[in-house]
Amino acid sequence: MSRVIVVGAGVVGLTCAVRLLEAGHRVDVVARDLPLETTSVVAAALVHPYLAGPVDLVERWTARSQAVFTALAAQDDRAGVRVLPGTDVGHGDAVAPVVDMPRYLPWLVARVEALGGTVTRLNLAALPDHGDVVVNCSGLGARLLGGDHTVVPVAGQVVVVEQVGLERWALDGRDGRPPTYVVPREREIVLGGTDDAGEWSRTPSPQVAADIVERATALVPALAHARVLRHRVGLRPARPVVRLERRGRVVHCYGHGGSGVTLSWGCADDVVGLLQD
Ligand SMILES: Cc1cc2nc3c(=O)[nH]c(=O)nc-3n(C[C@H](O)[C@H](O)[C@H](O)COP(=O)(O)OP(=O)(O)OC[C@H]3O[C@@H](n4cnc5c(N)ncnc54)[C@H](O)[C@@H]3O)c2cc1C
Repeated sequence: MSRVIVVGAGVVGLTCAVRLLEAGHRVDVVARDLPLETTSVVAAALVHPYLAGPVDLVERWTARSQAVFTALAAQDDRAGVRVLPGTDVGHGDAVAPVVDMPRYLPWLVARVEALGGTVTRLNLAALPDHGDVVVNCSGLGARLLGGDHTVVPVAGQVVVVEQVGLERWALDGRDGRPPTYVVPREREIVLGGTDDAGEWSRTPSPQVAADIVERATALVPALAHARVLRHRVGLRPARPVVRLERRGRVVHCYGHGGSGVTLSWGCADDVVGLLQD
C-alpha cells in the first residue's frame, strides 16, 4: 500500500481520500482552502450532471455516485444527504439525491480522520515531490499545479433562503435560458443560478440575486415571501472533459465543472483503480 498525498479538500479530494483510505493506503490531504471555504460548499447540490464531460464517463460516474448517495441517505442522517422527488422542466418528474454541502463536507472530513487520514491547510506552489503517489484534486488550482489552462472558472451565484416547507426540488435548464433551480435542504433552500464562463469574481451581485429570486419564484410560487439568509458565488472548475488519468506518480482528478458532487464517488473509485494498476 502507498503513502498518498491528496491535493485539494473540496468534495473531489475528500471523496478520493475516503476511498483510498478504505483501500488501505496511508493518506494526507493538503489544501489551500479548507472544505467550508471551497467551491464545493457553494454547490446546491443536486446529484444531476451539468457542465461536464465526456458524456459516457459522466453517465457511469453519475450512476455510481447516485447509488452511494442513495445508500448514505438511508444509512446515516449525519451525512446531510436526502433523496427527494422533483421536476426537471421539459424532462418530467424524477427522484434524485440532494446533498447539504455545509453538513456533508464536515462529515467527509470526519470519515477521513476516522480512517486514519489527515486534512491540513497548505498553499502549494507546485505538486508535492514527496509521497509515493500524489492525487491532484485541485479544481481550478490545476491551472497552476497542473499547468493546465484548459480549466476555466464558470461562476455560479446562489441565494439561500429560509425553509418554507418545501420537500421537492425543481430545475429549469431549457436551452437559451439561464439555469433556474430550487433545491431544498432540511433547514434552508438554495436558489440558483448563473453560469458566467471566464468570470473570476466571487462577489455576489444584488441585481443577479433579485433576478434569481424572481425566476425561482416563478418556478416555485411558494417561495414568494421566503426570507433571504445569504448570498454566495462559487467558481466551477470547468474543462472540456474531466481529467482523470495517471502520469507517473501523479493521478490527476479535476475539471468537474458543474458536477463535482454528482461525479465524486464514481471518480474516486477510478482513482483507487489507477493506484492499483
Ligand atoms: C452555484 C453552484 C452550484 C453548483 N451545484 C452543483 C450541483 O447541484 N451538483 C453538483 O454535482 N455540482 C454542483 N456544483 C459544482 C461543484 O461545486 C464543483 O464541481 C465541485 O465543487 C468541484 O469540486 P473540487 O473538489 O474539484 O474543487 P473545489 O471545491 O474548488 O476544491 C479544490 C481544492 O483544491 C485546493 N487547491 C487549489 N489550488 C491549490 C494550491 N495551489 N495549493 C493547495 N491547495 C489548492 C483548494 O484550496 C480546494 O481545497 C455547483 C457549483 C456552483 C458554483
